[in-house]
Amino acid sequence: MTAWLMKFGFGGVQEFIAQSRKTRDLAAGSLLLQDMAKAVAAEAQRLGAEVILPQQPDVACPHQLLLRWNDDDAAAIEAHGKALRAKAKGAWQDCVLAHVSDELASLKKVRKDSSLVAPQLEQAFEAYWVAVPLEKEEDYPTAFHDVQQRYELRRFTRTFPQEEKPSDPLGTCAQCGARNAVVDPSKAFRHGKLDPRDKLCAVCLAKRLWSYSKFDEAFPSTVHLARDRFFRLPEYQAQRKLLEEKKAEAKDWREFQEGTQETDPNVLDAIHKAMEARDSVTAYYVALYFDGNRMGEWFSGEHFADGQDLKGAQETLSEALASFVTALRAGASCLRATVIYLGGDDGLVLLPLDYLFPFIRLVRKTWQEHVEQAQEVCAIAQGERGPTLSLHASVVHQTAPFQRVIEDLHPALEETKEQGNREAFSISVAPRAGSEAKALFRWEELEALIQAVESFTTWRIEDFPPKGMGALPAKSELDDRRRQAFPARLPYVLADGLAPLFDENGALSTGDLETAFDLELKRLLGKREDPTKTADNLFDFLRTLVKGPQLGELAPRGRLASVLTVLPSLARWLDWGSGEVQP
Ligand SMILES: [Zn+2]
Repeated sequence: MTAWLMKFGFGGVQEFIAQSRKTRDLAAGSLLLQDMAKAVAAEAQRLGAEVILPQQPDVACPHQLLLRWNDDDAAAIEAHGKALRAKAKGAWQDCVLAHVSDELASLKKVRKDSSLVAPQLEQAFEAYWVAVPLEKEEDYPTAFHDVQQRYELRRFTRTFPQEEKPSDPLGTCAQCGARNAVVDPSKAFRHGKLDPRDKLCAVCLAKRLWSYSKFDEAFPSTVHLARDRFFRLPEYQAQRKLLEEKKAEAKDWREFQEGTQETDPNVLDAIHKAMEARDSVTAYYVALYFDGNRMGEWFSGEHFADGQDLKGAQETLSEALASFVTALRAGASCLRATVIYLGGDDGLVLLPLDYLFPFIRLVRKTWQEHVEQAQEVCAIAQGERGPTLSLHASVVHQTAPFQRVIEDLHPALEETKEQGNREAFSISVAPRAGSEAKALFRWEELEALIQAVESFTTWRIEDFPPKGMGALPAKSELDDRRRQAFPARLPYVLADGLAPLFDENGALSTGDLETAFDLELKRLLGKREDPTKTADNLFDFLRTLVKGPQLGELAPRGRLASVLTVLPSLARWLDWGSGEVQP
């Protein structure tokens, strides 16, 4: 008789989540996986296992579980593994099969192929497990490393079953591009939860339909996120109501005209005007992804203090992550964040642009309090602190292809971790017309960055979260801010003026050139009269980028140039504009 450690997880998780055309597909994919993982954790407990990781599956459930079974032989463990796998498949089928079958049955004049549904859903994921014996308690670290390694090997040897070609194919799924479509609504104008672009396979269809059973109709779309001011500010209430009544919130004028039965010219005119008001506010939103640094190493014990009991330390860290998630969820609800996934040490969130900086602030503070500098974590850590955090935010236009935006987040964050030596966060801006730019910042630079953005715009972080009804700032206040703001072209002037001072490696040569940099920066900033401290703040911020502690291997010239490219875009898109709402 012996105990066993088991690791259980799902294959193809990243692809399954990212294969989304709409925000609701993304949220559904992620939530479905978490629900399955939770169902498996509960089943394991029912069968007598101890769930070691995560400590609180109901609060934060990553897509992998670490379990411990007591006093069982290999045959019993195999039976448990199979039972958990069956539970995962069952949970998935229970969630979605009826939705897909009912929907296909209800579609009359649409091309469809129901015969593919069952096999596609059956093969949507692979759930797998590995287990190793744990003879004695003191063998826990060895057994843990063993089960980790075997799990990784198992993960990379998974096979994808080849789908049989249907006799009358509808073509490939427009969403995942991997499976055959089971429905092609392109000829129908619009059918409830599907639109003509939704030529979907059973798996992608399942996510969409399940999302409607889970979230209501008004799940924030990219249009809602990007045009958040229109959908939030009391000044737009009348227009908002009109568009909602006419089911035209996320449509453009032409799309609306093509589908409407409305003929009254006054009503049509009012709708057109409401759409213009909506389209006059900023059109950018944020997709944000963060991840604890070196979490695999942390959980393997590489950064725990000598003599720590590995299992106890893992449990402490897992508890800390659960409390981080609880606190972050509470804070995020005030910041109009659409939380897609919070697995403990990582998270994916969509935000209106106004909440970019408030949210970054919140993540940092919450992570520090609950993980990095939490007493119980510091007590078991080798150094002075627990794991650190990396974060990337992509600021994109509402028309940017959503799936690409999501797929790009993971590699962008990996690049930030590597370039920024795991002490940085990054922001990329992708203008609708123009090329994408990305800048990295040390966490200590966050507040100075916010001030720098504010110095070019009428937006202020103190406006968020808004007080009371959250109206636009007063006109006189906006006029004051406008007068104080630096000219929009200043960043370009600075970039051009300062570039010649760097050597071919992108560094400032020592001595005279360092002084020359300060003088030239002062001269360029001093050209305009500034009764406030704004110029001093900006001077300090830019000077620190170049002369302060450096970030990884990044050359100062490159960093300065990237920041001076990202700043004006953020400032322009965040600006409150004239502060007047068209009637
Ligand atoms: Zn698909």
